[in-house]
Amino acid sequence: MSENSSVEFPSAVEKVAIIGAGLGGLAAAMALRKQGIDAQVYEKARELRPVGAGLTLFPNGLNSLDAIKPGIVESLKRAGSFTRAVNLKKSTGELIMQNRLTLAEKYGQPMLQIRWSRQQEILASALPADAIHLNCRCAGFEQNDSGVEVFFEGGNTVRADLLVGADGINSTVRQVVIGDGAPRYAGRMSWRAVLKYSHELLAADEVTLMIGDGKNMVLIDTGGGYIFWSAGALSEDGSVCQSAAEVKSRVLQEFAGWGEPVRAIVEATDAGSIVERTICDRPPVLNWSKGRVTLLGDAAHPVVPSLGQGANTAFEDAWELSQCLAGAPSIEAALSSYENSRTQRTQVIQARSAFQGTRAYDADSDTFLRGVAEQAHASQPEFEDWLYRYNPSVIS
Ligand SMILES: Cc1cc2nc3c(=O)[nH]c(=O)nc-3n(C[C@H](O)[C@H](O)[C@H](O)COP(=O)(O)OP(=O)(O)OC[C@H]3O[C@@H](n4cnc5c(N)ncnc54)[C@H](O)[C@@H]3O)c2cc1C
Repeated sequence: MSENSSVEFPSAVEKVAIIGAGLGGLAAAMALRKQGIDAQVYEKARELRPVGAGLTLFPNGLNSLDAIKPGIVESLKRAGSFTRAVNLKKSTGELIMQNRLTLAEKYGQPMLQIRWSRQQEILASALPADAIHLNCRCAGFEQNDSGVEVFFEGGNTVRADLLVGADGINSTVRQVVIGDGAPRYAGRMSWRAVLKYSHELLAADEVTLMIGDGKNMVLIDTGGGYIFWSAGALSEDGSVCQSAAEVKSRVLQEFAGWGEPVRAIVEATDAGSIVERTICDRPPVLNWSKGRVTLLGDAAHPVVPSLGQGANTAFEDAWELSQCLAGAPSIEAALSSYENSRTQRTQVIQARSAFQGTRAYDADSDTFLRGVAEQAHASQPEFEDWLYRYNPSVIS
């Protein structure tokens, strides 16, 4: 891999290569194509397979998608489920508080739950099929004053005016642009799965967050009869299991003795569909572009999943990048204004996610729960207002 950043740029951006067909890469392709740019997405996976996850979309992410492609949010809403209340419970199942949400009234968009795979399908279907190239693992790139050449495993190359690394937390593109090595392990594990399931304790429009002993379990209706569960626990070494059966018994063991429906839903989950991951992030950086190459989404500013903002901020990035490219005299100027528009906001979200993430694993769960209850009525609204009020149709 090599790169050369001391180049002069022509103003025209006709072709953009985006690495990664995750939610950020697909949203970026949609946003750039709307500006008349030929955006092509290169994904290492052989197929866009369903992953065992649900996703929470907030007003800032939904409003960004709405600006990128009017109508797409309606499709997401039809495929997902609105959350009207969040139940905070002890690990025993005892209800501490119920927080009724007023996001739709305040910000014009609800808290929307959707299966990750449905969201990916809906975004992908908004692009021409021939704009997504599967089985293309980016291995590196070279740039000069006339363009960037992207190299793929197996020997294929493509040439573009601009390269966008939307290749996630372990981004290959980032390693050339920033070169900061492996992400930072946050000291905890995540297990998650999506399954067709119903239980009398799981209302369609409610999220249940259970916390105790430095562990947590979130149970979410994601629409269409599917429930998403996501569990977290501290782990010093971040060791992973060797088989699906081992993963399932590890979760059952970690959450043994928790109130229902925890045991029931984990038992009902097919072992092979449980995703086990270490939770990681990276410290914020001030720059993530070099020459005619930039980053977006988790490749640029990965967060621990405590505020549910990773994908939502990737949608903001996608919209901002398209606006900066549309208005700037050169690629360099466009990427500079893209970074200026994104770094301060994403730094705050990275720091707040890290802080809130650590608190959610506090071994003293009673103190944590009291803190959350207080925050829900005090300092939190100011932060949430800043977070969710982001709306491209108001900014532009
Ligand atoms: C447990 C958990 C819960 C979460 N919950 C939420 C939530 O509720 N709301 C929210 O907004 N966010 C949530 N997130 C975060 C969210 O999933 C990510 O922030 C988001 O998916 C990032 O999108 P992305 O497109 O930047 O990266 P990714 O989704 O990671 O996509 C990167 C893509 O690039 C591909 N790729 C990687 N390397 C290469 C390469 N060399 N060549 C070609 N392709 C490559 C990958 O295969 C992948 O398809 C959660 C994360 C976790 C772990």
